Amino acid sequence: MQALNEAIKQYGRGLGRDMVKVDFFLNHRIDTKLMAAMAQELADHFGHLSPDMILTVEASGIALAVMTAHALGGIPMVFAKKSATFVQSDDMAYAPVYSFTHKTQNVIRVDRRYIEKGARVLIIDDFLADGQAAEGMIMLCKELGAEVVGVGIGIEKGFMPGGRKLREAGVNLKSLAVVQSVKDGIITLEEG
Ligand code: 5GP
Repeated sequence: MQALNEAIKQYGRGLGRDMVKVDFFLNHRIDTKLMAAMAQELADHFGHLSPDMILTVEASGIALAVMTAHALGGIPMVFAKKSATFVQSDDMAYAPVYSFTHKTQNVIRVDRRYIEKGARVLIIDDFLADGQAAEGMIMLCKELGAEVVGVGIGIEKGFMPGGRKLREAGVNLKSLAVVQSVKDGIITLEEG
């Protein structure tokens, strides 16, 4: 997606050999016009599959997920939580996820009532790296008897295995931008 590629080139920074820092527009300060355009692109791509709801994981997936849900006509958006709360229901579904950014093992959870059996679920996240977050969400849907109609991603790191694993598993994956490499602070994008 051209506007996203341009924002990555203008404001993105590479950290180390594998981290992409885009928090000026994507996941700390949010460029809401760009985010709405990204959401529309995902809605155009997945709309014909008639998703009933969107699933993401807190926190940085939420902005793109809620805008995509709105662009799909106002379907509900559920986000999996990474920690337990006092008010959480005692009927939760769980899946293990290793956090790429925090380098910690997490358990993500959703209230079983919020993803109904047979629901057509579109999974959305800001980044795809090793694919752990997406796989955890797919696991949650499977356990709840819901159908994953696709996975929509803001930025895929094409040099990491997540995208290949999902495509090989037959998942309908759409990434709006693909990073080819990160080196000396420079982000190189796959274009065309
Ligand atoms: P995965 O589970 O695919 O390894 O990583 C996806 C999750 O890690 C996303 O939810 C995203 O929040 C975070 N993430 C992975 N790589 C990056 C990155 O380069 N930059 C940022 N900001 N977040 C990332």
